[in-house]
Amino acid sequence: MRVILRGRFVADSLHGINDDTGILVDEGTIADVGRFDDVVRRSDTKIVREYDGILCPALINAHTHLELSALRNDQFHHTDFVDWVIKLVDTRTSMLAVDQRPDCIRSKREAEEKGTGYFVNVGNDFDLNRSLGDNQLFEFEQIGINDSAAMKIFERSSELALRENGNSVALAVHAPYSVSPRLMKEIKSFNNSRGAITSIHLAETADETEFVMSGTGRIADLLNYRVTDWEFKPSGVSPVKYVDSLGMLDDKTLCVHCVFVDEEDIAIINERGSAVAVCLRSNMELSGNTPPVAQFLKDGVNVLIGTDSRASSPDIDMFAELAAFYSRFHDLLAPAAAFASATSDAAQFLGIGSDYGSIEKGKRASIVYVPFDGKNEDVFERLVTAPDARKVVLD
Ligand SMILES: [Zn+2]
Repeated sequence: MRVILRGRFVADSLHGINDDTGILVDEGTIADVGRFDDVVRRSDTKIVREYDGILCPALINAHTHLELSALRNDQFHHTDFVDWVIKLVDTRTSMLAVDQRPDCIRSKREAEEKGTGYFVNVGNDFDLNRSLGDNQLFEFEQIGINDSAAMKIFERSSELALRENGNSVALAVHAPYSVSPRLMKEIKSFNNSRGAITSIHLAETADETEFVMSGTGRIADLLNYRVTDWEFKPSGVSPVKYVDSLGMLDDKTLCVHCVFVDEEDIAIINERGSAVAVCLRSNMELSGNTPPVAQFLKDGVNVLIGTDSRASSPDIDMFAELAAFYSRFHDLLAPAAAFASATSDAAQFLGIGSDYGSIEKGKRASIVYVPFDGKNEDVFERLVTAPDARKVVLD
């Protein structure tokens, strides 16, 4: 089907704001973009859909767990992060016999209808997650905090990942306190050999910092409770420095959270070219702290935005997450820069820029409509405070 979308404004981070723009869509791909009259003249279709507002690219969720879609953050009343993890794992265990797929599909579809076009989706259930569509990077998450088990875990997981063509499936490191050095290294070199992104939860809580430095505290309680043969050699350094010492940080590493990081940590992340996925609402829920976004931006760290899962966030709606991010950090960055974090910056880092992140000829027509009757100069402000974004449905 060929159709011309006509927006009062079309906006993305790479081309800015253009008024009265036409977007010719052919079978789900953008075939032409330009002044509306020019696109009509060049096109052989006269089917036009008018939008009294802004057309923009769909957002990219840099961190979520679709397999946790049946859960609700308010069902886990917790005293601290470790308490939350224990309740989460117990609940998941109790749900093993229940087919999670309908909830995952529904949750993903709702997020898409509200304007998310692509997901970095971290999960443990290979078959479930692979069945959730191709607009995702599936990060197949591994856990194993004992080097002697590392090769067995790696061989099993890499065999599954190798079944897939391309780099839309990668292995993920859960966290520095749950993955042994050998397993981390194997995962990283496997992903790098395929040009794939490695996701790692990093510096999420103060408990993590204590454990990585000294091997003690609440994370040790968690491991004692859950894992019979865990082993960890206290590193004496921060989580960021620890994983960096293992060669984990480069421009293909996506560091999730980075709440408890100091200036040296941030400088390392920046030097390595790694990106940070900020999940603000999840961090507020689980530690009550926010990541040092001011320092990230000052240093030039690549900041992306993720919702995390329904187990720690009220929803997986990226426009809601972006609005929360901008509301919190609006004095640090312009609306257009915040919008770039959720679109073009994410697309470029993830290597999906030829399909997502902006409105250009040849890309997927992953397009969102936001009602708006204001002025040109307020368009990006509107996009980063938009609770009413809607996917443009093309069929
Ligand atoms: Zn997560």
